[in-house]
Amino acid sequence: MIIAVDGPAASGKGTIARALAAHYHLPHLDTGLLYRAVGVATARAGLNPDDEAQAARCTEITPGLLDDPELRSESAGSLASRVSRHPAVRAALFAYQQDFAHQSGGAVLDGRDIGTVIAPEADAKLFITASAEVRAKRRHLEDSHADYAAILADIQARDARDAGRSAAPLRQAEDADLLDTSDLTIAAAVQRAIALVEARIRR
Ligand code: C5P
Repeated sequence: MIIAVDGPAASGKGTIARALAAHYHLPHLDTGLLYRAVGVATARAGLNPDDEAQAARCTEITPGLLDDPELRSESAGSLASRVSRHPAVRAALFAYQQDFAHQSGGAVLDGRDIGTVIAPEADAKLFITASAEVRAKRRHLEDSHADYAAILADIQARDARDAGRSAAPLRQAEDADLLDTSDLTIAAAVQRAIALVEARIRR
């Protein structure tokens, strides 16, 4: 069984994807980490993340690379969103994600284009959302030293870049179930996600 979980930054999609993977005993891939790794590698190499050819030189995903704690930083998220606009970068990361999705037994993948591009044939697709203000508050709770207004501005800029780009923009697949987590606790959101997947696979 393949489960696709898409949505904007801090919508809760990562938490929900991990919970679904645990519930169904499936491996999980956070595909945002791939783009974060490319963004960070591009910056570390002194190359320009806004230049397609330069970013595309940094797309090799070596073992252990995705465990680098630096990938979790806000700046890595911003770099990821810049390199992810480039079709050459997306193309280079395509096979890795497809192979992960199609391993025997299935998998859970979360990202922006799993239900639309990477695994359109997924058995269940969830599109997780929440208001930009709620998402900024969640990020602020994780790092209270950061400035709330700056986090909100970054989330809004990232949303606009992710939804507005021409290569695999962030959008809900036609056959995806929408889950708005703005007013839900984590436990309630996970319960609802499991119920939506159950309803899909029973159909
Ligand atoms: O999900 P996360 O915040 O880690 O993603 C970082 C950035 O990587 C996103 O803002 C988006 O630009 C990009 N991304 C993408 N496609 C994916 C996953 C992430 O374009 N499947």
